[in-house]
Amino acid sequence: MKFLLSRELGRLSKWLRILGFDAAYFNQDKISSLIIQALRDNRIIITRNHRLPKSCGIKIVLIKAEKIKEQVSEVLNALKLTPGSDMMFSRCIICNAELIGIDKEKIKDKVPEYVFKTQQDFITCPMCKRIYWQGTHWGNVQNTLKGMIK
Ligand SMILES: [Zn+2]
Repeated sequence: MKFLLSRELGRLSKWLRILGFDAAYFNQDKISSLIIQALRDNRIIITRNHRLPKSCGIKIVLIKAEKIKEQVSEVLNALKLTPGSDMMFSRCIICNAELIGIDKEKIKDKVPEYVFKTQQDFITCPMCKRIYWQGTHWGNVQNTLKGMIK
């Protein structure tokens, strides 16, 4: 299941990526282009835009909530999704690409020294080359997620 989020839902697209979903972000205004991209890539449109045609042959999830936690819940409920913990943190938050494991020695100069000393497993984004690890910033994310997933 793949998503395409319209322009006003940039934050939600990041959270869906954290949960491991393929959530592309459409950063233009043109609704016709949004629909074409969704059709071409076989994606479900997630939007707050009420002007989208209901009968364009694409599944559309219309988001009503203002708060990010509620928006995530809306998506999960609308599509009856239960994100698994094995899926989480499998995608780059910035580019939506699937993360891949990387040899610890290769990233020695790219992460803070204490991180290198205390962490064993590192993953990287093949597109932006960002390096992720299960450190404190993921701990915060997990606390936030507790409020989103029931
Ligand atoms: Zn990336």
